[in-house]
Amino acid sequence: MQRAIASFSQDELGDWVAHLVCGHRQHVRHKPPFWSRPWVLTPEGRAEKVGLPLDCVLCDRFEMPASFAAYKRTAEFDETTIPAGLLRDHTTKAGVWAVIHVLAGRLRYVVEPPLQRDEILEPGRNGIVVAEVPHRIEPLGPVRFFVEFHRAVT
Ligand SMILES: [Zn+2]
Repeated sequence: MQRAIASFSQDELGDWVAHLVCGHRQHVRHKPPFWSRPWVLTPEGRAEKVGLPLDCVLCDRFEMPASFAAYKRTAEFDETTIPAGLLRDHTTKAGVWAVIHVLAGRLRYVVEPPLQRDEILEPGRNGIVVAEVPHRIEPLGPVRFFVEFHRAVT
């Protein structure tokens, strides 16, 4: 899916890396004739690209950004205490991912476009919530679960 560029940094070899709003990083090398991105070599060129999208395959794969860590979690819910907002399509904030942990029973987890997934969560099978992607859950009988939120470690 498409993710906007938030900023740039250089790796240990001096190659440029784009930091995307989802938390993922992607090399944007200028190595002709393989990759031609002369704009990446100047501050002005990079500044013009901030806010423009790159295709993020790590988001497509539901891969939590490597530098992320849990910072808070919800209370434990069951089929009678699930907040109504979780049953309708909703999203996390920019740069916030989550993990749905099922302690007992089963939850249906539906992810809407631009990603798409419809799966059953149960103990040992967590749901990964990709930042800003609409999703909802639905209890399949008695269930106990909580949601853990992750963001970049600063
Ligand atoms: Zn991403």
